[in-house]
Amino acid sequence: MKTRRIFLQKAGLSALALNLTPFNPIAAMTKEIFSEKQDEQPLRVAIMGLGSYGTRVARAMKDCKRAKLVGVISGTPSKIEAWQKEYAIPAKNCYNYETYHQIKDNPDIDAVYVITPNGLHMEHTLGVAKSGKHVICEKPMAVNSNEGKIMVDACNAAGVKLLIGYRMHFEAKTQEVVKMRMNGDFGKILFFQGLSGFIIGDPSQWRLNYELSGGGAMMDIGIYSINGARYMIGEEPIWVTAQETKNNPEKFKEGIDETIQFQLGFPGGAVASCLSTYSMNNLDKFFVNGLKGFAEMQPSTGYGPIEGKTHKGPLTNPHVTHQTTQMDEMAAIILDGKKPLVPVDGEEGLKDMVIIDAIYEAVKTGKKVNLV
Ligand code: NDP
Repeated sequence: MKTRRIFLQKAGLSALALNLTPFNPIAAMTKEIFSEKQDEQPLRVAIMGLGSYGTRVARAMKDCKRAKLVGVISGTPSKIEAWQKEYAIPAKNCYNYETYHQIKDNPDIDAVYVITPNGLHMEHTLGVAKSGKHVICEKPMAVNSNEGKIMVDACNAAGVKLLIGYRMHFEAKTQEVVKMRMNGDFGKILFFQGLSGFIIGDPSQWRLNYELSGGGAMMDIGIYSINGARYMIGEEPIWVTAQETKNNPEKFKEGIDETIQFQLGFPGGAVASCLSTYSMNNLDKFFVNGLKGFAEMQPSTGYGPIEGKTHKGPLTNPHVTHQTTQMDEMAAIILDGKKPLVPVDGEEGLKDMVIIDAIYEAVKTGKKVNLV
């Protein structure tokens, strides 16, 4: 509105002052829209947890048009110093885990992106929501559905948005396949296969510490197959079965799943057959099969480029750094209320957590778990 007023004032004044050409409302409007886009305030983001993924997001944000990295929350002073230099972050936008609640008094930060270990997501999301800032939280949103529900409720109560870092929901080839599914190009879908895994290294890392991870491969990488099954099939599963294999109980202690095979049943009759593991590489593949066609993606969820084909031919959409698109799109969701093709809100994250809870229950009991 400010831009509009200033522009109209300027346009009116110059036309009057120069008295050369009559005021042209259409030209004025075009110029106005242009100048509004130029002046658009970006989503001003602080990243919490300056680890390996936080660093990737920050670098990708350098190319963002609507999101801007303006602050940090970190327990490591040397990282804060380095990030201040690299991203021109002012000292007043730097916090640690004891001081970040003061962010509520900082009008220059709109949202905090929580990129800490899974077991801290709930505490950190609640803290940020209490400070009145929007939350973007990494996947898995929490370590179980109870926590996820508390997070959704807390953000609703605080009147802030909660988005989950599902970068694939904005990836062009993935969106292409989702749009084909929505168009009915695959016909009735009856099968999905999701393979998600890698060989995990250092046994002392937080991903293998139950307190901080909340589980093993399923929380970290298996979630991609769960989430992918849902957006590729376009339905919510109604039952779950699962089987665990543990070859290295030394490395994968109680509560840390090494390999789980699981199956999800969908109301339309489709079945998803998936593998989640910390003990095998070369597993990053989605295959969806309908009565009229198929899509196959490999790699399907890595940092890209994603590759794939459908019964109509290869997927050719250009690769853009996932986190750049994600952050620009999330800015549009938060600032403009834009509706994404596939949801990324807290409710979406919660759906995956409910399924993960059911998978762990199915592993423990050896029984089929109904979700409805
Ligand atoms: P890292 O271990 O590399 O970084 C986590 C950071 O969290 C640390 O560097 C530290 O930053 C901060 N932290 C705060 N408390 C602790 C603690 N008790 N122990 C360890 N670190 C702590 O992990 P990642 O960056 O790989 O993963 C972080 C989150 O991002 C996870 O939830 C993970 O699932 C998600 N992720 C998502 C990906 C995606 O593609 N969407 C890819 C990779 C990860 P500081 O020193 O600044 O406090």
